[in-house]
Amino acid sequence: MVVDRINFLKDEINKANYKYYVEDNPSISDYEYDKMFAELKKLESENPLFISPDSPTQRVGSVSEKFFPHKHKYRLYSLDNTYEYEDLQDWYKKIVKEYGNQELVCELKIDGLAMALTYENGIFVRGVTRGDGITGEDITNNLKTVKAIPLKLFEPVDIEVRGEVYMPKESFEKLNEENLRNGEKLFANPRNAAAGSIRQLDSTITAKRDLSMFCYTAIITGNVKNPPQNHYESLMYLKKLGFKVNPNIKLCKNATEAIEYCKEWDEKRFSLDYATDGVVIKVNSFAVQQELGFTSRAPKWATAFKFPPEEVTTKLVAIEESVGKTGAITPIAILEPVQLGGSTVARASLHNFDEVGRLDVRIGDKVYIKKAAEIIPKVVKVIEDDEHYKLPQYTMPKNCPSCNSELHIHEGEVNLYCDNPDCPAKRCAKVEYWVSKDAMDIDKIGPSIIEQLYNKGFIKTPVDLYKLTMQDFMQLDLVKEKSAFNMYNAIQESKNRPLSRFITAFTIRNVGKETAGVLASEFGTLENLKNASIEELSKVEGIGEIIAQDIFEFFRNPKNIKMLEELKSLNVEPAPPIQNVSDKLKGKTFVLTGTLKNMTRDEASEKIKQLGGKTSSSVSKNTSYVIAGENAGSKLDKALKLNVIILTEDDFLEMIS
Ligand code: NAD
Repeated sequence: MVVDRINFLKDEINKANYKYYVEDNPSISDYEYDKMFAELKKLESENPLFISPDSPTQRVGSVSEKFFPHKHKYRLYSLDNTYEYEDLQDWYKKIVKEYGNQELVCELKIDGLAMALTYENGIFVRGVTRGDGITGEDITNNLKTVKAIPLKLFEPVDIEVRGEVYMPKESFEKLNEENLRNGEKLFANPRNAAAGSIRQLDSTITAKRDLSMFCYTAIITGNVKNPPQNHYESLMYLKKLGFKVNPNIKLCKNATEAIEYCKEWDEKRFSLDYATDGVVIKVNSFAVQQELGFTSRAPKWATAFKFPPEEVTTKLVAIEESVGKTGAITPIAILEPVQLGGSTVARASLHNFDEVGRLDVRIGDKVYIKKAAEIIPKVVKVIEDDEHYKLPQYTMPKNCPSCNSELHIHEGEVNLYCDNPDCPAKRCAKVEYWVSKDAMDIDKIGPSIIEQLYNKGFIKTPVDLYKLTMQDFMQLDLVKEKSAFNMYNAIQESKNRPLSRFITAFTIRNVGKETAGVLASEFGTLENLKNASIEELSKVEGIGEIIAQDIFEFFRNPKNIKMLEELKSLNVEPAPPIQNVSDKLKGKTFVLTGTLKNMTRDEASEKIKQLGGKTSSSVSKNTSYVIAGENAGSKLDKALKLNVIILTEDDFLEMIS
């Protein structure tokens, strides 16, 4: 019966509202919430008789009793939202039909908390949360600790300003790390962290949290000369008064341009240092805004387009204990498959067993998983409901899932290790790493082929790959002549990869792909690198004494000496170093970050080397340039802090042309 479904949805949404607005501790993801909300709205519109005043569709947010309530002079509304571009077009068409073509202002939807700030004569007198839109919580003292909120404006005006208090992503990660260390509650996302921080009874705690605020609404309550005539002008006015206004605003001619903006930011959002969950699209004209008015909970002149979710909740059905190339055992969450960021996710990272313990993950739990840019999804938080406490606690494995050897924790590390050199899973993982894209890049050989080759006794180490014949491949399940040839051929073709790939493939402790690149460009040949002293190694930019020691020892370990000799005897040797084409970039050090459009980062590095320049994996004051592609991360932040020159990909191409 429809009424039962309506009541069920109302109950579920009200429960979620309480957890989200009052406890700042959501029990479901925003995406699931929005889906239930949209279903309830649809059922109510088809059956208007069942709309009751207590329905969540008829109201906004909620007020807690923690603070003094304050009745807003001007009501605060929520926003209608959609995940579909088609709905945006429909919303715009309806407006155009009545009022003709309209300019639209697009703003990023900041994932924080709405606040109303009151200024009298340019002085900040009161700050109140949105609450239920009619009454909010007076948190003036806490808001005074937020540095982006001016206490005195550049003009002595009477004004009410609305905006969003938020916590930068990096500060959110740090706060959660600290809470994890101290055994305190974890926040599900930056919005909840901001809410938990700004609604503290003790302002000194709020002051310690890194909060900021973007402002987006101005209600001028006194007289001002030349008041703004439309929404875009009001944003400019807010800026002039001293408020922080988000720089990524755009005045669009129509919905098609607004949709372009949404698409652009759906891609670029990960490069921002604050969370945005969508785009708010507002009719620019104040006159048309006034004509359109409001529904019971949202303006009709604005709507929000929400980005596909970055995080969702799902059930954790098992914890797989996976054996890595070094023998480290990594816990992997096996999930009930769920859609996230455009793909189906069935596995997520749990980092290490320390993290499993700290998160108190139990098999059967409902967990939050999150995906950002290209990073593999990770489990961020467990939903600690009654069900969670009924589940048995997870216990760390004592034996290797592959060879059953006893596992150990290495001194100074958190990982569990299988120390058996003949562990089959460890051996296969080593070969998998050797053929991986970052190492020798032998793309025809996948994990299941490696496992079969191992089980049939054809390979034990990466070196054995180069001893395989076509006939060996033909003995594997479902392998016909053509694919056997392709696999055999792919191995032969990889024999003389550049030195940096060999160094990566060696799995020297603490030496990843980027350090391998630096070592290759510094030493040029494997011989030079093998013979380098600790002192010579530690002189290389980005290589400290510990890494120098690791590299030095690697080349003196009898097993590795034997492996290098064997490789040589099989003609598996790095290609000769690239000759400098010119000295155009001589003396310049580059750091690459983010995704480039026209070339891979490896190709860009090769180019730099050909022109006499150097690349480094970390930004320091000695870095000449940082080349920032899309979704550039912390290296870009560091470059900004150190005033290092930042080049776009186009700037770089121009520089080398
Ligand atoms: P909302 O967050 O979807 O949108 C309205 C709000 O957007 C405004 O009130 C304002 O605070 C904010 N906003 C950010 N940038 C803005 C800008 N540039 N211009 C104007 N406003 C801007 O709506 P809401 O009423 O605050 O909350 C409802 C949403 O919160 C739901 O859609 C859901 O995603 C989430 N929620 C989740 C749960 C949960 O359990 N996960 C529970 C309740 C609500």
